[in-house]
Amino acid sequence: MKTGFIGLGRMGSAMAANLLKAGHEVTVFNRSPEKLLPLIELGALEAGTVADACRGELVITMLADDTAVADVAFQNGGIISVLPKGAIHLSMSTISVELSKKLTEAHAQAAQQFVAAPVFGRPDAAAAAKLFIVTAGNPGAVKMCEPLLNVLGQKTFPIGNTPASANLVKLSGNFLMASVIEALGEAIALISKADIDRQVFVDLLTSSIFNAPAYKIYGGLIAAGRFEPALFAAPLGFKDIRLALAAAESLRVPMPLGSLLHDRFLRLLAEGGERLDWAAIGGLAGRDAGEPHRV
Ligand code: NAP
Repeated sequence: MKTGFIGLGRMGSAMAANLLKAGHEVTVFNRSPEKLLPLIELGALEAGTVADACRGELVITMLADDTAVADVAFQNGGIISVLPKGAIHLSMSTISVELSKKLTEAHAQAAQQFVAAPVFGRPDAAAAAKLFIVTAGNPGAVKMCEPLLNVLGQKTFPIGNTPASANLVKLSGNFLMASVIEALGEAIALISKADIDRQVFVDLLTSSIFNAPAYKIYGGLIAAGRFEPALFAAPLGFKDIRLALAAAESLRVPMPLGSLLHDRFLRLLAEGGERLDWAAIGGLAGRDAGEPHRV
């Protein structure tokens, strides 16, 4: 299938590379053109504009946020105005429920198809083709995406016919992950202040009652106070909490923990944490406990 790929950031560049390595014909576009080069070396075709990436049967977007996706979709010469009838926009970014609904409607009006397929897994998982992918949309369109999704991830979870459902699932998952980061941060601050070894504590928990990737990955980062380089940048984590809270507000679901996380991110960013990994909210508890040197 002739595929366009728009958005070659930390995630998108690894994902597009995997499609190329699997032998797919991929035309790549990125706002900052220097990120095209490594993909072109792998055999990608270069798109000079968004429109150039939209001439095939399918275009994938893996962009930062709602603003970026709305820009490339709705701009003059954007995806909706140029994608051929019947072709698919496979949206893999973490975006709002609201924008997903808007895209579903706009693509339907243009006789195109819209499939939401947000992912769980950091850039290292993307590079290893180990993403978990949540899909929603017209079943026929989702099926057409499967050969590509099978290259990108280790498992795909179809969640229904309404694309926005996949986005809500993804936002709910990230809310849970941020809650784990905050809870780990507080627990690690507690044992650390009593001079108990942080990594020993994390190893103990993750090899017993908390034997799960989220605890292993984030426990290790918080114990080591290693928040750079950012594999998932704090502003993107903040975005996901804001979008989860927006969905919660429109569905009338109080999420007090979500509101707390909102303010944790706000504090991190107010203190200049823009370039840090979102795991850095797990370092705030140690600082609150007067142990800034340990995080
Ligand atoms: P990233 O490294 O910051 O890359 C963002 C991409 O979006 C870049 O290609 C950037 O282009 C582009 N972009 C940003 N604003 C734009 C605009 N206004 N117009 C056009 N392009 C724009 O982000 P990422 O970590 O790859 O994340 C991508 C998406 O995946 C996000 O929705 C994120 O929430 C989600 N996600 C990330 C992870 C993770 O661990 N990183 C995991 C799961 C899901 P430039 O290169 O020109 O800046």
